[in-house]
Amino acid sequence: MAYEAVWMKDPSKLNKFEFAKIEKDGLDVIRTIIEEYADKGYDAIEGDDMNRFKWAGVYEQKPKDGHFMMRVRINQGVMTAAQARALASIGRDYGRGLVDVTTRQAIQFHWLRVEHLPDIFKRLENVGLYSYEACGDCPRTIVGNPLAGIDKDELMDTTDIVEQVNDFFILNRDFSNLPRKYKMSISSSIYNNAHAEINDLAFVPATKVIDGEEVLGFHAYVGGGLSAKPHLAKELDIFVRPDEVLKVAIGVTTIFRDYGYREKRHHARLKFLVADWGVEKFKEKLIEIIGDMPSKGENKIVGWKAVYFDGVHQQKQEGMNFIGLNVPVGRTNSEELEQLADLAEQYGDGKVRTTMAQNIILGGIPDAKVEEVLKAPVLQRLTPNPKHFMSRTVSCTGNEFCNLAVVETKERAKRVAEYLDENMELDEKIRIHMIGCPNACGQKHIADIGLQGALVKTPEGMVDAFDIAVGGTLGPEAAFNTPLKGRVKGDDVAGVIAQLLEFYKAERQANESFNAF
Ligand code: SF4
Repeated sequence: MAYEAVWMKDPSKLNKFEFAKIEKDGLDVIRTIIEEYADKGYDAIEGDDMNRFKWAGVYEQKPKDGHFMMRVRINQGVMTAAQARALASIGRDYGRGLVDVTTRQAIQFHWLRVEHLPDIFKRLENVGLYSYEACGDCPRTIVGNPLAGIDKDELMDTTDIVEQVNDFFILNRDFSNLPRKYKMSISSSIYNNAHAEINDLAFVPATKVIDGEEVLGFHAYVGGGLSAKPHLAKELDIFVRPDEVLKVAIGVTTIFRDYGYREKRHHARLKFLVADWGVEKFKEKLIEIIGDMPSKGENKIVGWKAVYFDGVHQQKQEGMNFIGLNVPVGRTNSEELEQLADLAEQYGDGKVRTTMAQNIILGGIPDAKVEEVLKAPVLQRLTPNPKHFMSRTVSCTGNEFCNLAVVETKERAKRVAEYLDENMELDEKIRIHMIGCPNACGQKHIADIGLQGALVKTPEGMVDAFDIAVGGTLGPEAAFNTPLKGRVKGDDVAGVIAQLLEFYKAERQANESFNAF
């Protein structure tokens, strides 16, 4: 370790995972996979190394029979056509063709075997992509504005900043042993396109008049996160110039590394330290580490569109368009991804963009080419004109592959959306998020209707059920949704939501939205 690991001074404050991390750094498992496990196979994987696989971006899939899932970091959700093709090839050759878009803009594969991993790592590296540290107690995929560079609603293109921060942290052993996972968000979208408030550290667009001139930059939020105890991030009283984002990110991450709690896993995220210290003390410590910073300027976030862009939209560049496509519950496949890469190259700016709502965007399409793109076969399923509920339904992985899941989610979420599209008319788009356990990968807390999987006792035994919460939103009015009483059987969820929405339709006041109901 190149730095002083202050937390090691008091071993009584360390949980058992901390000792495993001290014994062997999570990043060391990458070499062990390549040099040892890929040869010897699944049964040779020893002790804590299975847990360390997360630092390689790899998790054991359910059931534990030698298959793995992998997340690949797509910084701010923007990948080149060549990268999309490499991902499609990995899905096709090793992942039974499945390609999932996650709620952190990453790409997720299933069905991988340990023997495949060295070739997958190599294929990713060849196109400048990494699965490393997409999971584990380390800085994860940096989410951002998927429209960076083409967004008429951004103060600046954040691409270089995101890359700079990513390049600093990835595989950096000074920061590969954090108390828990650590999520960063960097966006200059005035519509909060990277869900700032639910990240450990987030940069949002801001301006400040300095020496008589208006400077574009960022405000910083710290301590957001979901799971069983969700916290909204809090704004620090600092103004961050674009060239100071990395410095602030290093400072905040250093605080987390050195002062974050390591005693109980469920009380280790940065949000607990921020809640205990308060933002004043947090800022003081940050200034001690990185030096003085100007106080806040003007926060430029004006609202939140929950990163939904279905349809054709004019972009920042005159005569150019981006097309938002619906990926039903975030699941696509190698064939479709390859076709999207071809379209991006043939008609657009050569980029395929993923959103935190698990959808895809193609950009840089000249006015004259839009109609042609809309006719492409792949856009008939991944449509820019999705049905109402299918367009706004998000789902986590669930018990199809996830070992922590209590219930099945992806197929069920799709069925719920299909039922509502057939049986419900509403003049307002309602966002539904379904998760299979309290870990909240599907971000249920920020949904209009959040559904969290659980079990319920019936005369026939335990059956899948869901807790329902309503009214979540981010942006200036940010609030997590409110749980309703009772638990609904899985088979009844669609019907209960339909009743809830009928009640809303009948009772709402003029101009009242579901969120304010
Ligand atoms: Fe698995 Fe739970 Fe995350 Fe869903 S929310 S993917 S069930 S850990």
